[in-house]
Amino acid sequence: MIIVGLTGGIGSGKTTVAKQFEELGIPVYIADVEAKNLMHKSKIIKRKLIQLFGDKAYVDNKLNKRFIADVIFNDKGYLQKMNEIVHPRVAKHFEKWVLKQDAPYVIKEVAILFENGGHKACDYVITVTAPKDLRIKRLLNRDNTTKDKIQAIMKNQWTDEEKIKYSDYVIDNIDLEVTKNQVINIHKDLLKII
Ligand code: ATP
Repeated sequence: MIIVGLTGGIGSGKTTVAKQFEELGIPVYIADVEAKNLMHKSKIIKRKLIQLFGDKAYVDNKLNKRFIADVIFNDKGYLQKMNEIVHPRVAKHFEKWVLKQDAPYVIKEVAILFENGGHKACDYVITVTAPKDLRIKRLLNRDNTTKDKIQAIMKNQWTDEEKIKYSDYVIDNIDLEVTKNQVINIHKDLLKII
């Protein structure tokens, strides 16, 4: 199966673009969503996260996101340890998911792709870009967050320029209709070359 990685900075429009590929009949795997699902469902992940963060990691059987976010904010080492627990299991889950798909290629949306070397496991990579100010505006509209929080996340992500260097395709996501046309063109190109 051909794996097409889909990445981009926070608020660039990855999920919006992923949905447009889905409308073309392409199966989409959103790694962050699946990771969150597994953190709720997988007994082994739950056990290991409780070992790492203590009993407060889950409240009423639900992941205590606020508590974990606070711990990570104060000690970034915890983020790496959490990733070491969650990432390999998401990778396995993705492998199983891929086997069940019947399509010319699949889209794997991963927010932090290049930063973790995940692009090496993709056959092609698409990066979604948009100006920083526009991304901040979209996120302030979508989430209960602040400009400072968004900028702190942006600092930990590669810049668009760095991502573009390693990408096979770039989607400039400003106007939704223009974005859709770019998606259709990439889809057609992929069908031609794979
Ligand atoms: P995150 O980094 O948080 O996962 P993302 O890159 O997946 O975000 P989206 O959730 O797709 O980004 O988009 C962020 C917000 O901006 C959403 O509310 C979405 O509806 C809106 N949005 C995305 N693209 C456009 C666009 N071209 N025009 C207008 N609004 C858009």
